Amino acid sequence: MYPPRYLIPTQSTTDKQASAPCLPAMFQQAFLDLPPIASAHGEVTLPGSKSISNRVLLLAALSHGATEIHDILASDDTQVMRESLKTLGCEITETGTNQLRIVGIGGQLQNKTAKLFLGNAGTAMRPLTAALTLMATTQGGQFEVSGVPRMHERPIGDLVDALRQLGGSVTDLGQAGYPPLRLGDGDTHALQLDAPIAVRGDVSSQFLTALLLALPLVATRDVVIDVVGELISKPYIDITLKLLAQFGVHVQREDWRRFTIPAGSRYTSPGQVFVEADASSASYFIALGALGSTQGITIQGVGLDAIQGDIRFVEAAQRMGADVTGGPNHLCVKRGAWPLKAIDLDCNHIPDAAMTLAVMALYAQGTTTLRNIASWRVKETDRLSAMATELRKLGATVDEGDDYLRITPPATPGEWRPAAIDTYDDHRIAMCFSLAALNPAACVVRINEPHCVAKTYPDYFETLFDVTTPCVGQVPVICIDGPTASGKGTLSQGVAKALGYAWLDSGALYRLVGVAAEQAGLSTTVEALADPAHAATVGELARNMAVRFEGEQVFLGGQDVSAAIRTEAAGMGASRVSAIGPVRAALMDLQQGFVRAPGLVADGRDMGTVIFPHAPLKVFLTASAEKRAERRYRQLISKGISANIDSLLADLKERDARDTNRQHAPLKAATDAALLDNTDLGIEESVQQVLSWWQSKQRKT
Ligand code: C5P
Repeated sequence: MYPPRYLIPTQSTTDKQASAPCLPAMFQQAFLDLPPIASAHGEVTLPGSKSISNRVLLLAALSHGATEIHDILASDDTQVMRESLKTLGCEITETGTNQLRIVGIGGQLQNKTAKLFLGNAGTAMRPLTAALTLMATTQGGQFEVSGVPRMHERPIGDLVDALRQLGGSVTDLGQAGYPPLRLGDGDTHALQLDAPIAVRGDVSSQFLTALLLALPLVATRDVVIDVVGELISKPYIDITLKLLAQFGVHVQREDWRRFTIPAGSRYTSPGQVFVEADASSASYFIALGALGSTQGITIQGVGLDAIQGDIRFVEAAQRMGADVTGGPNHLCVKRGAWPLKAIDLDCNHIPDAAMTLAVMALYAQGTTTLRNIASWRVKETDRLSAMATELRKLGATVDEGDDYLRITPPATPGEWRPAAIDTYDDHRIAMCFSLAALNPAACVVRINEPHCVAKTYPDYFETLFDVTTPCVGQVPVICIDGPTASGKGTLSQGVAKALGYAWLDSGALYRLVGVAAEQAGLSTTVEALADPAHAATVGELARNMAVRFEGEQVFLGGQDVSAAIRTEAAGMGASRVSAIGPVRAALMDLQQGFVRAPGLVADGRDMGTVIFPHAPLKVFLTASAEKRAERRYRQLISKGISANIDSLLADLKERDARDTNRQHAPLKAATDAALLDNTDLGIEESVQQVLSWWQSKQRKT
């Protein structure tokens, strides 16, 4: 799922409340509010193609020999394929980032029975059904394949019919023609390979792909497949044929109607395979460039010569006005014609990427018609009806036909609507609708269940935010202020995680100043800091600190100080340096610079009063001093650090007094802050309270 950026973690070694990694699943992000996007610019490296990754995984697993796979996609759909192959007895080792080594089974079943759960991955369900049926039938195995409820609504009957024609044993375990299925009956049977096998090509090209991938396992003679009906999504078949050839199987193709697998075909590992980046995923950034980039978006990983059919999305985008150039492994996209030009296009060759055209149509002059997209109805969801419903929410007029969509954009900026886009557990709906955030009315676009992008592009939103600039003042900040050990850090992380926001732990910055001053030999006693000249020197040091945050670690001038800033002593030092004006002034810009899309949760003492006075939600968190001392005591003891509750209480009170009584930015609740006393509240309840305040703010705006 999309992970929030924890800019400054509280992975405390000593004096902070239990940190957040173990937050319960209830804090999973239910929605992501995309602030309106003003422009886009930068470079994107795309993840590997799902279609290629899952085909290569299966081919490597079925082959003789070991295969090193580079740039493989790590996502939900490839994960289910990997798990299944392991269950079937394949040895899979991670040999690097997005790199795997697979030792193939050479077409011989290692385990003859298994139950495989395939989620909602069509690219796993169809080929595994075919390969396992043929191996189970000829080698005496029995397997069950199932998936999520939606997978059980996605038709597979035409493939099952073809397998049964061959003499394969397939039993429907639910509704006939849909998963779940039992493959094989445990006994060995001969296949009938002499007559051509007929398979329908007009519902999903994945049925033909599945047969093409499976039949070389049993091609004791030439095996002929005849396609019935007009074959859709031909480019996907082309990918299948190219990959088969890489693994040593050369299928003869006559037109797009007859395919012959030569007798004696056998899968042999090519040793190494490089997976091309996902051309369908490229469509979002091609569109982004066309909609919002005068300087250009560079896309790494696919070029104009890609083997994936969806690369032809480029031509469609160009027709709408995109300025696209490219080389062998990259593309560069800028805004060309603006507004975009409406098009009327047969999208049969780019079924997935065409969804992106539907959202681009919102920015076109006139009505765009996307034709020949009936296959959308049997994808992750009924995409035809889903796209029509969601486009209408934004203010478009949409005519939904059996196999086409006709989209007329809102006539004026004022007719755009802020919308909550339902994503139907369909990654592509979440990704293509993110482009609505470029709307001319600067409406916030809410994407429900944004984690569905994990199917093919787990870091999609991260990447989007990296290359886009939000409209000025449109990125929301939630401030959570309160005294020491009130639980701000844990609460802020929980809220940030639930909303997918970044997190600023401003206390860490003051701790850093204290540590940096010590390292520089500058005294941080109250007496020394009382001298204005000395205070100015410490302020200068704060302004020029070479700080770097890297995931969980904090570096000061190249040195890892993550542990050093978390000690009790560092907390006391922070309390003293933070009382002086020059330090507070020095850290102002740094803290404000943490604001980034889709939003920020900032915790500290003066987030709501000084740093982000216009924040739409401010929370002032308190708990009794006794309770706070007790929490800290328990935390230290649990880490094996000896502690004395009375002295902790005294320290807390001293810090409270200094924070509250200091001249600069004293600790106090902003006049418009919501007060939250968590003395008797658990962390989950506190997070829920803040989220519900946030929800009600959204409703008002
Ligand atoms: O929150 P934490 O305990 O890490 O903060 C360390 C010290 O930094 C606090 O005791 C407080 O004196 C100071 N601080 C501050 N303003 C902030 C955050 C922390 O003065 N926004």
